Amino acid sequence: MADQKIPGIYNYCDRWCERCTFTARCSVYENELDAPEGSLDMNNKAFWDRLSENFSKARKMLEQAAQHYNIDLKEIAAQANDIDLKQKLIRQESRQHPIGELSWEYSKLSMDWLKRQPGMLDRLEEMKGQLTMGVESVEGGKEKIESIRDSLAVIRWYETFIHVKLIRALSGKVKAADDDFGEVAESAFGSDSDGSAKIAMIGIERSISAWAALFELLPENEDEFLNILGTLDKLKKLAMEEFPKAMSFHRPGFDD
Ligand code: SF4
Repeated sequence: MADQKIPGIYNYCDRWCERCTFTARCSVYENELDAPEGSLDMNNKAFWDRLSENFSKARKMLEQAAQHYNIDLKEIAAQANDIDLKQKLIRQESRQHPIGELSWEYSKLSMDWLKRQPGMLDRLEEMKGQLTMGVESVEGGKEKIESIRDSLAVIRWYETFIHVKLIRALSGKVKAADDDFGEVAESAFGSDSDGSAKIAMIGIERSISAWAALFELLPENEDEFLNILGTLDKLKKLAMEEFPKAMSFHRPGFDD
């Protein structure tokens, strides 16, 4: 059935719902559509009201279940604190891993470039001039402007996403080897860290294509583009070495 939901599809996607071809089969997307107006806007009061309402409901359900099954919530909270601390240490360790550091370095390079966009406005003005003078065909001009717009959107979307997913992948790998986390670090689809590494690598590949498209239009920024492309390429190689099975991870829906 075309609109049958695909379980877990949202776990290994890039969360770019606007460009997703599976919106009709994703329950996260459906939930977001069902949310009251404004409830997804972090600055909107309705968002926080909905969140706090959900939290109160969850707390009540948890207390009822604990009473029913005779579970000591205080004891669980103490264990959770230990796990929380362990989790923080694992995250810190992952950020200090060469992949964590390099992916963050890429985020900073990209953010810095996007803030400055050296030569971009001049190039757009030049293209407008060429269109007016008929040096560039209307079709050709439109295509280039479209290519710039798409490339910038792709770069922006993945610039921090890659880092976040690689940190999740690295943390997941450590957790999978730890008895306290072993089961949660494995998803129903296989190793969660492989799935996270795969979507990060897809983000890297798409970003490389987007930077290369910009490079073609702004060749005078060669040094900077080569530095960015080199960083992404190195990051991809490191990620492939660390997660050799990632690309064969089967993402529900996307890899069916
Ligand atoms: S699967 Fe598609 S629709 Fe669902 S959360 Fe991911 S990007 Fe959005």
